[in-house]
Amino acid sequence: MTQKPPTDVEPDTDSPTDVEDPFEPASPAKKERVLHTRVPAVLEQELKRFARNLRVPVSNVVRVILEDALKVADRATGEVEDRLRKAASVVSTEREQIRETLKELDPLEDVLGFQPLILAQPTTCAGCRASLRRGDKGWLGLTEEPGRRVIVCGQCVPAPAADESRNDDKKENAP
Ligand SMILES: [Zn+2]
Repeated sequence: MTQKPPTDVEPDTDSPTDVEDPFEPASPAKKERVLHTRVPAVLEQELKRFARNLRVPVSNVVRVILEDALKVADRATGEVEDRLRKAASVVSTEREQIRETLKELDPLEDVLGFQPLILAQPTTCAGCRASLRRGDKGWLGLTEEPGRRVIVCGQCVPAPAADESRNDDKKENAP
């Protein structure tokens, strides 16, 4: 049963289903199955020639080729997934860039309110890009985005609309 098969030549039988692994009984722990398959005569001859050149059993050649083919198929599947994932990330990156561009177009869009302040550092107005010097009056825009600093000049801070201020006055005077 544990008899060693000849190292080189596989017996040249005509049966294409003769692909049993001669090493199989060696380890009962390894659960291996014998897979019978029909192959074209040309393919059988090629496999046998290949096996003879390598001095290994045909069944080993078949097994290695099958395992290789499965690996390649696996890799192909992985590549498709990778490509999809890349495409998805490109879409989301582009969306992020579009969002950033829009923010650059209107840097004051997401400002909740402005707080007047005396500038201690020279800076640039986020609205009109005017240079603001140390000691100038500026307005600090408050946003919900942490770390984002918006400072505008007196021209860019929104002025109260006439209608709104009148309404406010009315409300204040109403009670
Ligand atoms: Zn400005």
